[in-house]
Amino acid sequence: MKYDAIMIRYGELALKGKNRDQFEETLMRNVKHILRPFFKIKVRRNYGRMYVELNGEDHVEITERLQRVFGITSLSPTVVIQPSDDTLKDAALELIRSLPAVPATFRVETRRADKRYPMSSMEISRLIGGHILRNVPEIKVDLHQPQVVISVEIRSEGTFLSCERIPASGGLPVGASGKVMLLLSGGIDSPVAGWMMLKRGVTLEAIHFHSYPFTSERALEKVRDLAHKLTRWGGTVRLHVVPFTEIQTKIRERCPEDYTITIMRRFMMRIAEQVAKRSGALALATGESLGQVASQTLESMNTINDVIRTPVLRPLIGMDKHEITEIARKIDTFELSILPYEDCCTIFTPKKPVTRPKPAIAERFEQQLDVEALVLDAVERTTSEEITTKPRNSVVEELF
Ligand code: ATP
Ligand code: MG
Repeated sequence: MKYDAIMIRYGELALKGKNRDQFEETLMRNVKHILRPFFKIKVRRNYGRMYVELNGEDHVEITERLQRVFGITSLSPTVVIQPSDDTLKDAALELIRSLPAVPATFRVETRRADKRYPMSSMEISRLIGGHILRNVPEIKVDLHQPQVVISVEIRSEGTFLSCERIPASGGLPVGASGKVMLLLSGGIDSPVAGWMMLKRGVTLEAIHFHSYPFTSERALEKVRDLAHKLTRWGGTVRLHVVPFTEIQTKIRERCPEDYTITIMRRFMMRIAEQVAKRSGALALATGESLGQVASQTLESMNTINDVIRTPVLRPLIGMDKHEITEIARKIDTFELSILPYEDCCTIFTPKKPVTRPKPAIAERFEQQLDVEALVLDAVERTTSEEITTKPRNSVVEELF
């Protein structure tokens, strides 16, 4: 089937006035951005509808891309015709016939935004329905639970027919909700947390703590690859890389082993808060899930959170590992995440980390360190780079 356009539906009900304009503008920009390799298309917006005019481009890849644009709830490949009895009947029949399997039941739904057309919505639905019943053997009309709905919209710019509704990602358009700094490790959880934040419309930056030479250049490449996966949903991600070796070494030398992870995390928070401020990010985000490991108990979160004032968003807080893994597979980060590269936390893992750390005790141990100077120095030496949507040579590709 040769389609002329893709109809884009978005969460329209909840939005009013100015918010809605901004939502639509951001969505339109993101749609244009993700479709920029397709020269011939045009994105149009008209009275609460958005659609992509294909102008001969293939609809399959374009639909796939649009499924990754947050804010879109569903998509329909559409044919656009100049309406007449014959063109309406022919186009609807062709649509039904182009489906992979002939449906047992259908219904026609007509909306007439352009009232100049001489037939009523009901008459148009009957005209098309009758034609399909006469030409498709064994098909029946079912008004309540049809397998397929043929949707007809008569608009001033043309008449749009479609019979498929492809689910998209939902959420809010990236860029509509301000900026968040994601603490991105090489594990399974934090890329999923980043994806969930993108789904709520934030602009994402990422910060990674790197302990060269305890962790290799490859471990950092893996983090870049993970950030690159996220660009498929969110566009460019700015990645900040913090040299963390000195701080980790000092903690290990001067603090009791069971508190090393707690103190290390407190440093991460302090540094991330500073970098977030410089970038204009209003919150941090992590991949923590309550009770998953020793450092993710409520006591731990308290003690770790105690050193900063910036809100920490934890989108995975109530999720089980298998739910997180499912999303990781869906967004294609899982295979990368499980590659066996050492992480700055695994290297310094104490035999028996404290599960109920106390802020006062952490503070006491930190008196052995010049916290302020260490934080400032790490922030000063942090490097930043842009991870763009452009293809990269990934670690995975090198390995296999
Ligand atoms: P993940 O799969 O995201 O690594 P995890 O289950 O291994 O999570 P932890 O290692 O306890 O959990 O880390 C908790 C959170 O702290 C991570 O989700 C991430 O947001 C942050 N984090 C941990 N290590 C780093 C790092 N080296 N750089 C940046 N953030 C980190
Ligand atoms: Mg980890």
